Amino acid sequence: AGLDADTRSLTEKRSKVLGDSYRLFYRKPVHLVRGEGQYLWDANGDKYLDVYNNVASIGHCHPAVIDAVTRQMKMLNTHTRYLHETILDYSEALLATAPAEINKAMYMCTGSEANDLAIRVARSFSGGTGIIVTKEAYHGTSDLTSGASPALGSGQPLAATTRLVSPPDDYRVDAPDLGAWFAAEIQRQIDDMAAHGIKFAGFLADSIFSSDGVLPNPRGFLQQAVDVVHRNGGIFIADEVQPGFARTGDSFWGFGRHDVVPDIITTGKPMGNGIPVSGLLARSEVLATFSDDIPYFNTFGGNPVAMAAAQAVLQVIEEEKLQEHSRVVGAQLLAELRKLMDRHECIGDIRGAGLFIGFELVKDRESKTPDKALALNLIEQLREHRVLTSVAGPYGNVLKLRPPLAFQVADIDWLVGALDKSLTALGH
Ligand code: PMP
Repeated sequence: AGLDADTRSLTEKRSKVLGDSYRLFYRKPVHLVRGEGQYLWDANGDKYLDVYNNVASIGHCHPAVIDAVTRQMKMLNTHTRYLHETILDYSEALLATAPAEINKAMYMCTGSEANDLAIRVARSFSGGTGIIVTKEAYHGTSDLTSGASPALGSGQPLAATTRLVSPPDDYRVDAPDLGAWFAAEIQRQIDDMAAHGIKFAGFLADSIFSSDGVLPNPRGFLQQAVDVVHRNGGIFIADEVQPGFARTGDSFWGFGRHDVVPDIITTGKPMGNGIPVSGLLARSEVLATFSDDIPYFNTFGGNPVAMAAAQAVLQVIEEEKLQEHSRVVGAQLLAELRKLMDRHECIGDIRGAGLFIGFELVKDRESKTPDKALALNLIEQLREHRVLTSVAGPYGNVLKLRPPLAFQVADIDWLVGALDKSLTALGH
């Protein structure tokens, strides 16, 4: 009802031919046909501001990526069992963004595969099987990763070796030292594993806790958690699928905000600006036990075209100074968003790091009762103002603002104005 003929026909065809596990955004689905930078256009020619997609990390259809991919596609595309410079040059450049201890790179096509391998490596290195994740974590589609992804809901059983910790939520957790509180959460789960005869293998966490509601503060809170993990013989896997690649502004990787050194870094989404490429970076001694025993070959992973795309992304981040851009524009956006709190009581908290911001809606500020219905209605209203975003968090009441890094100061008015008008229209 209320859908135009094109939308109705595509929606119907979709449910006819696609598997039913797919979920579509919006009551009035969006049919996109073109993108450029931070903007998207639908089939009617209407222009949208993308405040959601970090896959087009350096901007939709960035010419540097198109050129690099086209050039390499015309020359050769094979796999990693032959010599090729691109994967080596790129690996040197990528490893240079990581702490010095991290000195080996491997490539896949999806974040799921990177996390799947990370879990296998953690198990091989530690001799244990137990994996700790946060309560709303999402780490992927494979059996190992979906078994460590409570975000998938009660229909998806967690592995018997998975343990959950409450997220380090600075807004909702009442603790004088959030880092100590979070480390104690982890220790408790390690102890519970031990009591059930499960040896701890590692702690797998998105370093900005995106699906737990975007939790960047306070800086440094991960340090005690990482210490606990190491003291108990496990490894820390930083899932950088969302916060990595200059997004958080003050550092290239999300964990940089906490000044910790992971044992493994996994990445994906933003790495190839849309070309499927993902990676696992690790300390060589962590990788060694796995590599000595088990060969790894990923048919498409690390192929010359994927590496050309990834190389172009990294170059653009440097040339266009996108990390600094994310820091500066993100801070300005955060400040403008916070001004909305004077006018709208329903905004409980706004927090962020660079161009990754959580905008939390509550029934009242005193009780902090989450307002999920408002968040969902707001997403729909924003769509009417042609601003695309989505919700996150255990209560589904946090708007996840995560635009391509091509987002500019000049776009702030569109976003903030749309939020202001939408909240007013919704009676808030
Ligand atoms: N980890 C995190 C934190 C993610 O957000 C996602 C994707 N949403 C994944 C892993 C899985 O990545 P992919 O969809 O590329 O397999």
